[in-house]
Amino acid sequence: MTTSETERIVQAEENYKKDPLYIPLTELEQSAFCQTENNLITKPLKEELQSTWINWQKIPESYQNLDANELDQRILKSKSILGKDLVVLGHHYQRDEVIKYADITGDSYLLSLEASRQNAPYVVFCGVHFMAETADILTSSDQTVILPNMAAGCSMADMAKTNDVIDAWDDIQTITTSVTSVTYMNSTASIKSLCGENNGIVCTSSNAQPVFEWAFDQNEKIFFLPDEHLGRNTGRKLGIPESEMMVWNPFKPMGGLTNDEIKSAKVLLWKGHCSVHTRFNITQINNAREKFPDVTVLVHPECTNDVVNAADLNGSTEFIIDTVNNSKPGSIFAIGTEINLVNRLANNNPDKQIFCLDSMVCPCATMYRVHPAYLCWVLDSIIEGKPTNIINVDEKTSNFAKISVNRMLEIK
Ligand code: SF4
Repeated sequence: MTTSETERIVQAEENYKKDPLYIPLTELEQSAFCQTENNLITKPLKEELQSTWINWQKIPESYQNLDANELDQRILKSKSILGKDLVVLGHHYQRDEVIKYADITGDSYLLSLEASRQNAPYVVFCGVHFMAETADILTSSDQTVILPNMAAGCSMADMAKTNDVIDAWDDIQTITTSVTSVTYMNSTASIKSLCGENNGIVCTSSNAQPVFEWAFDQNEKIFFLPDEHLGRNTGRKLGIPESEMMVWNPFKPMGGLTNDEIKSAKVLLWKGHCSVHTRFNITQINNAREKFPDVTVLVHPECTNDVVNAADLNGSTEFIIDTVNNSKPGSIFAIGTEINLVNRLANNNPDKQIFCLDSMVCPCATMYRVHPAYLCWVLDSIIEGKPTNIINVDEKTSNFAKISVNRMLEIK
């Protein structure tokens, strides 16, 4: 590690201690788990805690030392005791050692919808914080949503802090009121609520285009949060030139833009990104094509616009899964998305050649914070009658957030 990296880590640790909601430098944490060999094997939690400088949630020492076999037996036993009172949701980016306990797997929105269709009083969401919030918003008041590790946030969602977004919205309103706020599903409940309260809407990576069209029917401009890249890629698909999409930098007065730039922009893009999907680049695509001339390059629209343009196909997590699963035997795919999903696709499709565009194996650092020991711990807490790590979105936030989600659902 170089001196400057050490300094950045020390600084980040200090910031994190001062303000636990300070944006964790997940790229740095991620690098602790990145490796050149594809052997992401889960170790006892105590060992994994030693690899990271971020404060993962502390749980009793007795859980930290459990090995894979002990965890497996205890989790399976707890699941059989809880039976129909429990549904475990597993996001596609979770590690295999967690996903194997999931009753339902999917992307964040699909899982939250599925949760609301279940009768189980306890919903344990193996994913990140905003996903559990969405599940709490969409499930009934009789259901309790639990996130195994409270430190499992999403670095992209955390890049749009509520107060910064309120300030930005107020600033934009001083220049124009003909603007619709659109937030990606990967945002906090508070941001979804702000959109709901201000005639705005939520979108997913699969319906961003029709949602943009709806938003332009309401107003001249879109204020898109929190992923700059999904916003730009969607705008480009609708034929909006790059010059009419301006990046709003929350660390600068008026987003770092002039009044004329704000007036002339069709889309104002919040300066946020996914630390996983922005790792992919053109060199990796060129290398894949050089090595395998018949390769299909398939990427997620959270990747940068040059990568999306250079790829053969781009689409949501579910699109990526369907494309690979429905392809002919012998197909070759270089995929630009989270490594746990890429590895699972490769294992489930042994008749095809599937690999990650990035030769470094880097899981999503925040998804990775859900270790099976946390799952074991929260299941025990339910059985003991003292459920822990409950995600409870307050009523006002939940109501407005639901309005913005429902607007999306009404779009055909
Ligand atoms: S993959 Fe990106 S968007 Fe998804 S949880 Fe991780 S940081 Fe957030």
